[in-house]
Formats: sequence, C-alpha cells, structure tokens
Amino acid sequence: MTKRSILVVEDEEKIARVLQLELEYEGYNVEKAFDGNDALEKYRSQKWDLILLDVMLPGMSGIELLRKIRNNDPLTPVILLTARGSVADKVSGLDLGANDYVTKPFEMEELLARIRANLRLSLIQNETGESDWIKIGDLKVNEKSREVIRGNHTIELTPREFDLLLYLMKNRGQVLQREQILDAVWGYDFYGDTNVVDVYIRYLRRKIDADQQLPVIHTVRGVGYMVKEAK
Ligand code: CA
Repeated sequence: MTKRSILVVEDEEKIARVLQLELEYEGYNVEKAFDGNDALEKYRSQKWDLILLDVMLPGMSGIELLRKIRNNDPLTPVILLTARGSVADKVSGLDLGANDYVTKPFEMEELLARIRANLRLSLIQNETGESDWIKIGDLKVNEKSREVIRGNHTIELTPREFDLLLYLMKNRGQVLQREQILDAVWGYDFYGDTNVVDVYIRYLRRKIDADQQLPVIHTVRGVGYMVKEAK
C-alpha cells in the first residue's frame, strides 16, 4: 500500500518537527510548510491525503489559506490546529469546510486518532466514487473518467472543451476573466488572443446549455464568464 501524504502547515519549527517525526513514525509521508504562501505552493504541487493546518500563521492566516484551498477543492481533509479558547477560529474554520480541529496544546495520541479517522472517512467517500463528480444542478463532470452528464444524457466533448468546462466547474460561482481562462486551460505559453475563449465557450454552450431551460454558463459583460446554478 502506498504511503499517505500529509502536508503540515505550522510556523513554529519545533512543533512542525515533532509532528513530522511522529507522523513519519506512523508511516505517513510528510512535508512541512512554514507560512501560507509556502503552503499554497506545496499544496498545489501534488495531491495530499490530508492537511494539518495551524490557524495562527504569519502573513496569510490558516483560515485564509483554508478559504483558498476550499475554493476548488472541497474534498482533501483539513484538520485545524487552533489556539485554546479561540472559538471564532473553530467556527469560521468549520464553516469554511475544515473537517476537524484539534486544540493546542494537543496530545499526540489524540491528534493521530483524528488523522486516522479523517483519512478513513475520506477513503470511504473516495471508494463510493461520489467525490470524483463535480456537480452544478443537473450537470455532472467527472475529472477522472472525463465523463460529462447533463440530466440523463452523456455529453461528448473534445479534450479542450472538457478542460475548459472542468476549469469553469472547479471555479463555479466565480467570475473568470478571459485571460485567466486562457492561462489555465491553454497554458501560459499559448500565443494568441482571448477570442479563442469565446469561441470555445460557444462550442460548450451548444453542447451543454442548448435546449436547456436553465443555462449554467453565464456571460459577465465586460469581464468574462461564470458557471453557476441557474435559479
Ligand atoms: Ca502558529
């Protein structure tokens, strides 16, 4: 069985070091990040089985970091390390989609038990396959199998159309500028103008929103596009 990977975000080096030693002893792969930016970079560099996130960080707070992570990633389990008595952090953390929290100073055994419990839960969710689908209304996109379903119909997309839709779905509810979309879907070295985005949005709409009462792809005039559930 492959080792589970845990990202430890903790600015206090001594605590981070102890966490790393204990977690490695338990058989996990561990990487440490000491501040929010470092953490974001490491977070994006690979897939993590779990993130251990200290709330009190210099610069970007753990709560802010959690918000960024949850923007496109509803699933990776996040356990917060909160200061004793800091009810506000716990509440906003859980509201933002943290899975659990442990209050500092913590007992290592308790933390390890929480980690095991959260990993177990996420394994169960993964095995049921539900987590592979991103949904908006009756539109579902599966990143792994690259399937797209609207209502009861499978929709065939070209690879580029799929990547575009996936990017829009992962950033649902956010207005995305053409340049942003171009960078994310076509890559930074794409040489050309943003009209290609409009062209592909048109292709997507034909396949996804045509004949539908409630379109999911919305034009935000003068800015770009947004995917959201029609109300
Ligand atoms: Ca700290």
